Amino acid sequence: MDKLKIKIIRLGYIPFDIDFKKIIKNKSLLFDVDKYINDYILDKNSDGGNWGYSDDILEKAIPNLQDNINFIFCICNVPLENNYYSRRLKNNKIIFTLFQMAEILKSENIPIENLILMKLYSYSFVYKMYNNRIPSKSEKTSFAHDETKGCIFDMTGYKSDVIYSCYNPIICDDCYHNLSKSKIPIDIIKKVRKEIKRIKKKLFYKLFDFVKNHPILSIIISFIFGVVVNLTSTIIWEKIKCFF
Ligand SMILES: [Zn+2]
Repeated sequence: MDKLKIKIIRLGYIPFDIDFKKIIKNKSLLFDVDKYINDYILDKNSDGGNWGYSDDILEKAIPNLQDNINFIFCICNVPLENNYYSRRLKNNKIIFTLFQMAEILKSENIPIENLILMKLYSYSFVYKMYNNRIPSKSEKTSFAHDETKGCIFDMTGYKSDVIYSCYNPIICDDCYHNLSKSKIPIDIIKKVRKEIKRIKKKLFYKLFDFVKNHPILSIIISFIFGVVVNLTSTIIWEKIKCFF
């Protein structure tokens, strides 16, 4: 199966640091990300309720595909239609917003890159499932499920549920079955299932979570560790003294 080539662009002002090198360097059997991340202005005002931008206005603001690109993943920071955080537009374009999402991720110490990578995996599979194209939002699709399982195909009707698929995400058994029915090679699905396990939190925050979730055990481990360090340093000091 040929790898997809994805183009990431930024649309309008994005007030967050995103480590695009991490995204570009991510090794996947499913896709490569073009190494040039281009910026475009958003020169229109919102045309929907609650300051939201309609699919039409955003689709026109995103440039058309180059020949060697399978789909465009456009990052912005404005509210989207119906307050979604990502939407499939026409002409193989995806719009993705950090509006409200950056705060949700920050509250759980999840890097923004994790969410972007997770979406690149899910949309790449969608592209393959729908005969090498991204179905627009108006088309009826069935690749996502409403239940939140930590799966890359979680619908996340409640935006805050996205945290469950942004570290150690899975492809659940139902989605595995759907993908394999769509003529995607099983070996690729299995390998990508392993690949997405690399979407993790930083070590510091994993330790932070452990302490938060197991405070008493953490105190016991700290105590034992302190005693071991103390004993070891005493033994080493006694050995050193023997040389003098
Ligand atoms: Zn699933």
